[in-house]
Amino acid sequence: MKVEITDLSDEEMELVVDEANPYFVNTLRRILTEEIPQMAIEDVIVYDNTSALFDEIITHRLCLLPLPWDDRFRFRDKCSCKGEGCSNCTLHYTLSKEGPCTIYSRDLIPEIPDYAIVDPSIPIVELKEEQRLILEAEAMVGQGREHAKWQAVSRASYKYYPEIQIDNKKCDGCKQCVDACPNNCLGLENGKIFVKDLRSCSLCKACVEACESGAITVNGSDQKIIFNFETNGNIKAKDALLKAVELLDEKYKEFAKKLSKTV
Ligand SMILES: [Zn+2]
Repeated sequence: MKVEITDLSDEEMELVVDEANPYFVNTLRRILTEEIPQMAIEDVIVYDNTSALFDEIITHRLCLLPLPWDDRFRFRDKCSCKGEGCSNCTLHYTLSKEGPCTIYSRDLIPEIPDYAIVDPSIPIVELKEEQRLILEAEAMVGQGREHAKWQAVSRASYKYYPEIQIDNKKCDGCKQCVDACPNNCLGLENGKIFVKDLRSCSLCKACVEACESGAITVNGSDQKIIFNFETNGNIKAKDALLKAVELLDEKYKEFAKKLSKTV
């Protein structure tokens, strides 16, 4: 297997995985979206809410805020506190504001300063004159398969690596394929069609349909896959992928262990 990182930032990553297959990449995709542990608000105690929104709407918005992640946190049911909630499995936040103002995610004050909300400028609710919102929130570790609020990776997808072949004997340089391509993958130079941006090809085959002389063939390789994903900003893309690989490795080790006891 060959792996090439073609794009990397804190939140996004794109890889070309060669000599693999869609099943392997899809397994990674599912682990990224469903199994990477994350922190999200689970319980909210509302002491005072005279805003225009119901308690339930505000708490729903709070639960979807991306919180910072740290590997030291444990699932509450596997923590040494036995589900009671301690600093190893729970984060506490408080919010106390009086209008007129707009409450943003930064107004949710963490008990431990290092764990402020990842994006400070997410609006929660607007307060008019003399309206108040006072609450406490408790965050715990969970996984995306339980609820989307624990989803570390918001988007993960893959596509077959495009293979575009141009038969220059048949091509008359009419340029219709260049104009038909929605992703601007093809170009024309000296009367010849050439591929100028292969990875942007979405395999839509609009160029094949536009080419009356049948000079273009487009196929996708199921052995070479373009895989990309984006996190919510609470975990770095590189760390998310490494965590997904670690979780996959644990699954195989557990499977081998169980198998060795039965065979
Ligand atoms: Zn605990």
